[in-house]
Amino acid sequence: YDAVVVGLGGMGSAALAHLAARGKRVVGLEQFGPAHALGSSHGGSRIIRQAYFEHPSYVPLLLRVYELWRDLERRSGERLMLRTGGLMAGFPESEVVAGALRSARENGLPHQMLSAAEIRRRFPVLHPLQNEVALYEEPAGVLFPEACVLAHLRWATEAGAEARFGTALRAWRAAEHGVELETAAGERIEAETLVITAGAWLGEIAADLHLPLKIERNVMHWFEPIAHAEDFAPDRFPVYILHREGVPMFYGMPLLPDQGLKAAFHHSTEYTELRSIDRTVSAEDVATFAQVFKGWIPDGAGRHLMSKVCMYTMTPDEHFVIGRHPAHHNVVVAGGFSGHGFKFCPIVGEIVADLAIDGKTPHPIDAFAVERFAARPVGD
Ligand SMILES: Cc1cc2nc3c(=O)[nH]c(=O)nc-3n(C[C@H](O)[C@H](O)[C@H](O)COP(=O)(O)OP(=O)(O)OC[C@H]3O[C@@H](n4cnc5c(N)ncnc54)[C@H](O)[C@@H]3O)c2cc1C
Repeated sequence: YDAVVVGLGGMGSAALAHLAARGKRVVGLEQFGPAHALGSSHGGSRIIRQAYFEHPSYVPLLLRVYELWRDLERRSGERLMLRTGGLMAGFPESEVVAGALRSARENGLPHQMLSAAEIRRRFPVLHPLQNEVALYEEPAGVLFPEACVLAHLRWATEAGAEARFGTALRAWRAAEHGVELETAAGERIEAETLVITAGAWLGEIAADLHLPLKIERNVMHWFEPIAHAEDFAPDRFPVYILHREGVPMFYGMPLLPDQGLKAAFHHSTEYTELRSIDRTVSAEDVATFAQVFKGWIPDGAGRHLMSKVCMYTMTPDEHFVIGRHPAHHNVVVAGGFSGHGFKFCPIVGEIVADLAIDGKTPHPIDAFAVERFAARPVGD
């Protein structure tokens, strides 16, 4: 093979497609099934947005990634993305509002600032505090993650890639010309390039990189609204992230057909190990979230429909890790997406293909350097 991609979740399915589309003979290995619910890319919806509070340097990638998602939609003939508009809400000085505004201004993104009264007028089910404001941006919306993963897998196989499910990588080593892999079933595979897109398993598979990754357990909740269901419909209600003083940051989606109203804390700060993660959701998990949720959307937390556990793979600075392995230039890693990676899947696929084929990429990825945790701190 020209390349092996290990892990076919959000990122690996995209990497496999982009490599195959460029004519590479490529195989993908996935320990579970297609679009499974045991990693980080499940749960029916993901937010996509442009006025990126995390850092303005993501915006050029975001502008490109919208094109790539649309292109994938065209190829697959399926709806992968739903534009709803997005609200980044909180006090003006909160990280979410101030950060989103900075990104919008520095990149000239169209946006509106709404006062608490304006938020209530436009979205009557929201209850902002008196001094809370929101940045509203039109391009924000929802991605359907399982459909996205399946669309990338389909494009990959149509372009000639092999995708093997129920196939776990056990060990790999970089040889003089290429890499040698061994699967859990004892099969040996050789390839010129290895791409590691293993999500929460990255630390295990690329143990020699000593990346300071932590796995955070995060629970998604679905509710039925108590009343005014029509005001929660996607044509009237945006995706949102609320950063309220004294409350953990949380986000939510409009009421999606067949799904219910989904919302969740953005960070639980509940760190866990891969083997021992608690995948059951306690009544307390639900009650703690519902309490906070009601403070923002009193009509939101009606009957509890379900909850699901998902993993964030956190880096210390919450920026991604994308690049070539410092000791083995034919090994490319993409991980540490820190709970905000999904919207970037197709551009990560494109970048990984650039790195695997050309050894470099025109996209700005310096902030994601694999080596950055070794000696120097990063940031502004
Ligand atoms: C609750 C929650 C909400 C989120 N909300 C958003 C959001 O709104 N917007 C956003 O942009 N991002 C969001 N994210 C983050 C985003 O979903 C992740 O960053 C992204 O899905 C990570 O994709 P991945 O491919 O790295 O991981 P995964 O999709 O988990 O893929 C990794 C794959 O590698 C496989 N694998 C691992 N080890 C092996 C092995 N040894 N052999 C074979 N296969 C292996 C795994 O089985 C898995 O399928 C959210 C995440 C969670 C958990």
